[in-house]
Amino acid sequence: MVVEIISVGTEILMGNIVNTNAQYLSKRLTHLGLDCHFQTVVGDNPARIKSALDVAYSRADAVIMTGGLGPTKDDLTKEMLIEYFGKRPVVDESVLKFLEERSRARGFDKLSDGMRKQAVVPADSLILYNHHGTAPGCVMERDGNVCILLPGPPHEMQPMFEECCELYLNGKSDRTFVSIIIKCLSKDDAPVSIVGESPVADRLAEILDGINPTVATYAKPDGCIVRITAAAPNHSAALKLLEPTVAACRERIGEQYIRYVKEDD
Ligand code: ATP
Ligand code: MG
Repeated sequence: MVVEIISVGTEILMGNIVNTNAQYLSKRLTHLGLDCHFQTVVGDNPARIKSALDVAYSRADAVIMTGGLGPTKDDLTKEMLIEYFGKRPVVDESVLKFLEERSRARGFDKLSDGMRKQAVVPADSLILYNHHGTAPGCVMERDGNVCILLPGPPHEMQPMFEECCELYLNGKSDRTFVSIIIKCLSKDDAPVSIVGESPVADRLAEILDGINPTVATYAKPDGCIVRITAAAPNHSAALKLLEPTVAACRERIGEQYIRYVKEDD
């Protein structure tokens, strides 16, 4: 299954917040062994969200969307998706009851319209209850296209993903990705001419053309890193697959220019 991430929020586009949700989800998808070739950020605008979805489904089977599930007017992702997937909007009685009780406990005798709209969910979909906030997420499916819709706040989105989505996505993948990082010595510790990205890449030469494991170099302010990634049915098989390539990289770079070798988290 190929997955894309669409982060909804004008706040992200304007530079007010950093898109940590996409970073978090990318890491989890990698652990699950699912390919994610594209990420998109789109503002709180129905036409542009629709066009982002059209593009995503032209090249992926599933989309994970975050943001815009809350009570305010600009929170329109769910309404837009209900329309996009041709679903019927229905009130989830358990969410409504929860919102009413919460509102009463806070001294309001009537649930505001904004709060009430959070209880509206797509019919015939999997509803993901929010144990750390108010807006539920959901999983919608149509003609083989899947959309997992999650709230924007990371402290709500992350547990919902881990509790409700990982098991579902795990069933869609028969492999996992594991990466080993080799950090070359910082500029202060070794001559730049040896541990910069280009000389390290020269030393690795044809190892960089590998397909499984893949090997890539990245320039960092304090020295280059080499990431070696293997895909295998499970974690220990991936580590085994990594072993010879990691050994070859260590030898080519030279132990004296290596600061550490560790598994990427
Ligand atoms: P709420 O009920 O809080 O309105 P929501 O699902 O409608 O939740 P948004 O309104 O899009 O989500 O965002 C609410 C807050 O969540 C943002 O102000 C920001 O702090 C955080 N947030 C949203 N999207 C992201 C993201 N992609 N990365 C990191 N934080 C995010
Ligand atoms: Mg919101």
